[in-house]
Amino acid sequence: MEIQYFEFLKHLIRFNRYVYLDHNATTNVSSRVQREMNRVLKDHYGNPSSFYVIGRKSAEIMEQARGQVASAIHADPREIYFTACATESNNAVLKSVSSHFSPRKKKIISTPIEHPSVLNTLEYLETQGIVVEYCPVDRQGRVRLAELEKQMDEQTFLICCMVANNETGVIQDIAAITKIARRHDVLMLTDCVQALGKIPVDVHEWGVDYASFSAHKLYGPKGIGALYVKQGSPFTPFLHGGHQESGLRAGTESLHNIAGFGAACQDVDKLLADAKRIRALKSQLIQRLKEIKPDCVINSPETDAECLPNTLSITFPGVENAGLMGMLDYRGVAVSAGSACSTGEDKPSHVLKAIGLSNQAARETIRVSLGHSTSARDIQYMTQMFQDYVEGRTPFINMITPAQLNETILFDEQTYILDVRPPDDRKRFKGLPNSHEVSPFSVEKYLDQLPKEKQILVVCPGGGLSFMVSYYLKSKGFKRVSNLRGGLDSWRKRRNDLYQKYAGQNITVLQPGK
Ligand code: PLP
Repeated sequence: MEIQYFEFLKHLIRFNRYVYLDHNATTNVSSRVQREMNRVLKDHYGNPSSFYVIGRKSAEIMEQARGQVASAIHADPREIYFTACATESNNAVLKSVSSHFSPRKKKIISTPIEHPSVLNTLEYLETQGIVVEYCPVDRQGRVRLAELEKQMDEQTFLICCMVANNETGVIQDIAAITKIARRHDVLMLTDCVQALGKIPVDVHEWGVDYASFSAHKLYGPKGIGALYVKQGSPFTPFLHGGHQESGLRAGTESLHNIAGFGAACQDVDKLLADAKRIRALKSQLIQRLKEIKPDCVINSPETDAECLPNTLSITFPGVENAGLMGMLDYRGVAVSAGSACSTGEDKPSHVLKAIGLSNQAARETIRVSLGHSTSARDIQYMTQMFQDYVEGRTPFINMITPAQLNETILFDEQTYILDVRPPDDRKRFKGLPNSHEVSPFSVEKYLDQLPKEKQILVVCPGGGLSFMVSYYLKSKGFKRVSNLRGGLDSWRKRRNDLYQKYAGQNITVLQPGK
């Protein structure tokens, strides 16, 4: 069908600029990495463990990549193990070291601002008898070293502290923390995921025992991580099987991903050289945002040495992040509220809570993370969209959280639920009770059936498409339009009780021209 029939799509096409400002969630795959991965996929299918020539060639590619990763982090190649992701690296160390020390020693000290791959593993280890203590951080998110020193005791066997935080960008003094660990004969794990490619990483100089890395944060592929284990530090296999990775991580190696990781590491110096430019762009961004909203609060440390060059966490009092992010998404700008892993959940970020923000302030906070391709025009565009929004030149869409979508709203006579899910989602899941289903691509055919006097609650699977439709409805004169934050996927997780009880009841499929 011709595009001229899709009035709604034409509405979308008006805003066709795309500005990606969420590089801490993931990055695009660089052309160097793409070339290397394509070459390996095309020409090198041999199993690195096979003894014949095509296997030996694959093993050579793998060792070359190991050398590239080692050189980017200042380690010896024999200290690098490839894993599926940094989540695996963190899990492997925390679990293996705990089993090595237990029951002789029982305590791990960590921080409240670690990534969920650490925090949730620690929570699991507590169920296995490990004692976990969290060292407090200050308002900037810096670990309080004096407190850490006090928490150390005979039972402590590991400190786990990230180099740089994914949400605020705060950088820890890892060398100082490792010195404390050494004084007490305790091992040290550091999560370097957000640091590599943004600030210099030198695991030997820091003296850490273990460090985790992920390729997709530095323009490499997803699904490949690395673990640094200092020679001589205890480590037992996480996966049992073949003898790959010196018997410490079984499973045939993902050669194209490993080669991609190696290629990404070859660009680390180039990325570090770009940090100055990125930091200058971040300063421009902060300056513009402060001009537009003078009461904004910067949560990221403002001194260069204490914050990643690309990361800004900022609170805009009175501006809900869900609505702001939805509007920015509608205009092609990608930013986030916290970590990508928590998107869809309506819980305030644990990192922002740990540095003292209230629940409300956390819900008024966004994270902007710049990258290698970010330009001054991107910053200009993003800040212009933001200004239009806070100065009321963009229509306001009311947001409700999955927790708020309760029976009162579901059965409210004054609320009209408009379900704009695509057909495949309708096949998999039942709709909200009392909802009205239309195709998201032909909303314009049903406008005269929608009640102008009611609150129209637009829902879709993830909360993005419904936002677009909401803006479209606003442009067509519907005054009261709301959106479900995180969409039906989040609501089903959050209110599975209501889904089980009412989903699929009293659904109307709207017919055009009725
Ligand atoms: N640690 C930090 C600080 C991260 O930001 C992330 C990803 O967001 C991870 C660990 C997990 O990395 P992966 O996606 O490779 O499991």
